[in-house]
Amino acid sequence: MARYRDSVCRLCRRAKEKLFLKGEKCYTDKCPVVRRPYPPGQHGQTRARRVSPYGEQLQEKQKLKWQYRLLEKQFRNCFAAAERQKGITGENLLVLLERRLDNVIYRLGFASSRDEARQMVCHNHFLVNDRRVNIPSFLVRLGDKVVLREKSRSLVRVQDSLTGAAGRGVPSWLELDKGEWIAKVKTLPSREDITMPVREHLIVELYSR
Ligand code: SF4
Repeated sequence: MARYRDSVCRLCRRAKEKLFLKGEKCYTDKCPVVRRPYPPGQHGQTRARRVSPYGEQLQEKQKLKWQYRLLEKQFRNCFAAAERQKGITGENLLVLLERRLDNVIYRLGFASSRDEARQMVCHNHFLVNDRRVNIPSFLVRLGDKVVLREKSRSLVRVQDSLTGAAGRGVPSWLELDKGEWIAKVKTLPSREDITMPVREHLIVELYSR
């Protein structure tokens, strides 16, 4: 499966904001966005030009795509699915992204980043409704039960992630029983549950051109 293999910190520097793609390092002073707050590359420090409306829309789309660690085609497919649903397309898109299993694992704190969560899902560390699921794009549904498999519970990286994620908290639409390693989808996420700054209407405008 194709995936982005370059430095993820370059993406944050390109977006000119922290996208939290690298786990605990993102919360330290070592974060390159803090140390080098200008775009990457040879011309990163030259005077910034005015961004056109199209550029703004493109940047917003790129930012969201990078945050959820998708490639263009996957993101486009997700947008098409959001368009087919009833309601506001931009909000549908955010909710669909949020319901992805790799995102759920990250939100629960079992992984320190969405990349790590995706790898854990692919390596069969989780059961959904008592069945093994190794598809990161699997969409959780209301009432679904996500369990970390018994043999994976002692992994150091899981313990570290849970400790690191304690400050982040679990979103209100999910319920985590840490003692039993079980999580439940209490309600489906809504727009209010997505707290990161995103102007989804710009993405809809971009794809409607
Ligand atoms: Fe982005 Fe994290 Fe790298 Fe900082 S450390 S640039 S927030 S991925």
